Amino acid sequence: MHVRSDAVVLFGVTGDLVSKKLFPALYELTRRNRLDVPVIGVARSPWDDQQLVTTARKSVFEANDEIDDETFDALAGNLSMISGDYADPVTYQRLAERLRGAERPIFYLAIPPAVFGSVVEGLAAAGLAERGRVIVEKPFGRDLESSHELDRTLRAAFDPERVFRIDHYLGKEAVEGLYAFRFANRLFEPLWNSEHIDNIQVTLAEGFGTQGRAGFYDTVGATRDVLQNHILQVVALIGMEPPVADTTDAFREAEVAVLRQIEPLSPESTVRGQYVGYRDEPGVRPDSNTETFVATRLTVNSRRWAGVPFYLRTGKSLPGTATEVVVEFKQPQRSLVRAEGGAAVTANLLRFRLGRGDGITMSIQAKSPGAEVASRPVDLSVDFGAALGHRQEAYERLLDDAMDGHHLRFAREETIQQEWRIVEPILDLAAPVQPYDKGSWGPADADALADGWHTPQL
Ligand code: NDP
Repeated sequence: MHVRSDAVVLFGVTGDLVSKKLFPALYELTRRNRLDVPVIGVARSPWDDQQLVTTARKSVFEANDEIDDETFDALAGNLSMISGDYADPVTYQRLAERLRGAERPIFYLAIPPAVFGSVVEGLAAAGLAERGRVIVEKPFGRDLESSHELDRTLRAAFDPERVFRIDHYLGKEAVEGLYAFRFANRLFEPLWNSEHIDNIQVTLAEGFGTQGRAGFYDTVGATRDVLQNHILQVVALIGMEPPVADTTDAFREAEVAVLRQIEPLSPESTVRGQYVGYRDEPGVRPDSNTETFVATRLTVNSRRWAGVPFYLRTGKSLPGTATEVVVEFKQPQRSLVRAEGGAAVTANLLRFRLGRGDGITMSIQAKSPGAEVASRPVDLSVDFGAALGHRQEAYERLLDDAMDGHHLRFAREETIQQEWRIVEPILDLAAPVQPYDKGSWGPADADALADGWHTPQL
């Protein structure tokens, strides 16, 4: 039985992540009576407690459009601030003082990765690491080697059981829904293999650009920002074998097992693009070769997926924002029914919408009206918001789990390493990125990569 964390410490409390995601999550947990412990913000900025409360209120309001005062006051009563330098031992001594009564504090590193090392060392030197949990955010390094380095830093201070690596996709109910869809239904799992599936497509499209963070983005690019983590996470859920048991360990083992079977991506099957105008944005190098778009073909070397290509793409400034998986089935073994006009019927599709307006659409053939025995595709569709009601936000669930010491929705060390191994051959390629117009689906060569991309429902 794990002890629930009895204090939350947010390093980088003045930053974007805390204000966009973590304050709303803390508010929601307070509302559900899951949080009534000290929440201590730490940053270099000279904020006082009042400034912290004011910022928290603003971000909760922005996320919800309304605030329940009683809930917010309960949260505000637990908030306090420590300003200090991360290299200064005094910062951690003050923190230790504030945490004197806490048996199992949790430290959220919402700071740039370059500062992880000094904060982890500061916590260890103050004797706080040995009883605490730590949450780290992606990116987990820049490549395989630096991800090992990060693991070594964390392991030197924290027991691996107390390290929580967030890829927030694993916390999304819609993404978890892929697992429930596969293993709670009898209907599709028998078809979930190369005998019946022709190809699988994963698209994570952003209809916006770098949103004022071009300087940061230019050091990262689409492969590191999205493909290495979120998209491979989705591939793992689609491609995994059934876990051997209904346990966290079995789930995480099945997840890493399918990643081990994936071949490293090849530059020849990858198209990298950059939207026109990107190089003019503040903070971007004028000769930047950073990709704002990447499309690639992935191979899973397993009996289940022999010969089934996984086509993956992600990019910024595309025609809209959507995350979709499309499973394209093979044609019927014998074509007894033709499409109207005598052409071959189009394939059955299962479309998982994982972003806003999540749900599933199944494209099936139905008899077309009239004397002819022909068919045309029609959609069976469900909108999960309408069918299931409110679902929890990813960060709310992830914080709640980490406070309980539950690892189900957190990436294992090897999971991250496998993800880096897979993308390593396409990182930092010298070949120039291909320009594409804002509002298009990326460079023309990306179209040719897959034999017909399915356009996401925007
Ligand atoms: P920010 O760039 O907003 O930085 C967070 C805070 O860190 C800043 O407010 C600043 O606070 C402090 N900081 C910045 N630079 C330094 C430095 N050189 N030394 C010490 N402190 C510094 O980051 P985000 O909030 O966007 O992200 C936090 C972490 O979460 C990062 O690791 C990021 O990669 C990750 N992440 C963020 C997401 C997001 O949506 N924002 C999504 C996924 C992951 P102060 O100056 O007051 O100390």
